[in-house]
Amino acid sequence: MQKETREQALQAEKIFKASMKEEGYRCTQERLTVLREIYSSSNHLDADEIFVRLKKKEVSISRATVYHTLDLLFKFHLVNKIDLGHKHTHYEKSYGVGNHLHIICEQCDRVVEVHSEELNTLLDRLCEENGFTLGSFSLQVFAKCQDEGDENKCEIKTAKPS
Ligand SMILES: [Zn+2]
Ligand SMILES: [Zn+2]
Ligand SMILES: [Zn+2]
Repeated sequence: MQKETREQALQAEKIFKASMKEEGYRCTQERLTVLREIYSSSNHLDADEIFVRLKKKEVSISRATVYHTLDLLFKFHLVNKIDLGHKHTHYEKSYGVGNHLHIICEQCDRVVEVHSEELNTLLDRLCEENGFTLGSFSLQVFAKCQDEGDENKCEIKTAKPS
């Protein structure tokens, strides 16, 4: 892990521990493992993927605990929920991560993250015009890969994960 990422993970863990304490949740090892798994990854994971990754690492955790922990992390603003067009929700770390846009290929599921000052300014203005102050955002746009020849072939996935 890069130094910056490690620092980000440690801070997020601190906040998680403090928030759980404040709200009367037990700070269990399992819950912390879920947070660490998300913060050590730059992917957009769904609950089952997290569960499977932890199982592979021989962490004893139930699916229910993974789901419940994700809800807690969301409640404490430590993860973002994103919709990649699957039937389930994906999660990504949010502490120390700037607002961004996800461009998702409808055919091959490729996801690219875009940080844009221009977009920030635009959304800021749109909120303002409608009587809001912009908070945070995590947006999705569905698109199609441009033809880049054989090497970067956009493979159509016929079976979408359910
Ligand atoms: Zn998925
Ligand atoms: Zn993202
Ligand atoms: Zn594609």
